[in-house]
Amino acid sequence: MATLAVQNELNVYESADARFETAARKLGLEDGLYRYLKYPNKEITVYIPVAMDSGRLEIFVGYRVHHSIVRGPCKGGIRFAPDVTLDEVRALAAWMTWKCAVVNIPFGGGKGGVICDPAKLSQGELERITRRYTAELSEWIGPERDVPAPDLGTNEQTMAWVMDTYSMHVRHTTTAVVTGKPLDLGGSLGRKEATGRGCQLVCDKALARLGMKRETTRVVVQGFGNVGSMAAMLMHRAGYKIVGVADVHGGLYNEKGFDIPKVMDWVYVQRRPLPEFPAGGTQFTAHEILFQPCDILLPAAVENQITTENAHRVQARILCEGANGPTTALADEILQKKGVFVIPDILANAGGVTVSYFEWVQDRQGLFWREDEVNQRLQDVIERSFDEVVRYADTHDVDNRIAAYMLAIDRVAFALKLRGIYA
Ligand code: NAD
Repeated sequence: MATLAVQNELNVYESADARFETAARKLGLEDGLYRYLKYPNKEITVYIPVAMDSGRLEIFVGYRVHHSIVRGPCKGGIRFAPDVTLDEVRALAAWMTWKCAVVNIPFGGGKGGVICDPAKLSQGELERITRRYTAELSEWIGPERDVPAPDLGTNEQTMAWVMDTYSMHVRHTTTAVVTGKPLDLGGSLGRKEATGRGCQLVCDKALARLGMKRETTRVVVQGFGNVGSMAAMLMHRAGYKIVGVADVHGGLYNEKGFDIPKVMDWVYVQRRPLPEFPAGGTQFTAHEILFQPCDILLPAAVENQITTENAHRVQARILCEGANGPTTALADEILQKKGVFVIPDILANAGGVTVSYFEWVQDRQGLFWREDEVNQRLQDVIERSFDEVVRYADTHDVDNRIAAYMLAIDRVAFALKLRGIYA
């Protein structure tokens, strides 16, 4: 791989951009298209005044970035976290463009974030932040414009508030303005499990390709939130051996494998710290769990976990990126040299946006599908996309990540050429 132009390895925008550059160069993307696709369409910064419970007035900073509307409305989550930056939101918006194109659904990429710490805010404060953020963005979001969803620090309740606020502004209930909503407000069956299910589907495909069997495949999952816990649960149910689990409090490793429904009960019903799970194994930090013996490593927490400092310590045969950006661009080359079969984030975690797309379709139809129908359609999309990415990698002699980017960029560039530039 040619030397990547990355100044700061941990800057996710630089990581995303470096992969775009490599893929665009390999595609021979013409200069104008290259520049069009490299930069976002729009970046919006909002200053959100919020009356805190104490009576104090606080101003929160929020962003929404539209990377592309070439193939359809923008689609992407809203993140509430203290370390949100415009660079991060920009990177995540671009990733959404490529992710939607990899799985061939009719959306472009967007992303939003508010700099705040949800753990330190009351429900009322979170609701007021969400509503004012939505009101500030009301002319830029909508079923035909930009369709947000939950991300780190936000959930289906946040989406219900966004939906309600938007609906009050447009004067009619518009469920299709967001996805990841509660079922009773137009959410889709299967959405909660969708990202984890997508991870399992791509792992099944990788196993078939590498001649491996679920029963003898050891999996380490970092992150036990929506993506990680659902992936662990579904993979456990399917016969995989989950030997490592971790959340922000720490991790556990047990060669014999975990009874994941019991871990779920411990964490989500009994609300106890994951590392204290009684039938657990050896305790590790959430970071060290990544380097324990396993066949599949499934990071499903935050960015920048696998870097040039530690990529040589990864013991897995398969890396399935449940999180967005868990591997830095500079670490890619080390993993490739080690022969790790990487299922890149824009494919591995695309199950979530795929079922979000189904939710949007169902809301607009006013007709809701059975869960098995949702799951079957998801399986069709993910399996087809996996096949397309690995075929592209084989044909063009590139790794899976660059293949996924090339396929996606090619699709967006083709649509852009058909549309032409409005002047
Ligand atoms: P979540 O908030 O539900 O869960 C995050 C989990 O990661 C929690 O268990 C938390 O304890 C853990 N965690 C946080 N910081 C950590 C750290 N430093 N080390 C180890 N563990 C840590 O979030 P989520 O929705 O599961 O999202 C996880 C990742 O997957 C994010 O990168 C997100 O962008 C990506 N993603 C989510 C979806 C989705 O549908 N939820 C879809 C695609 C991608």
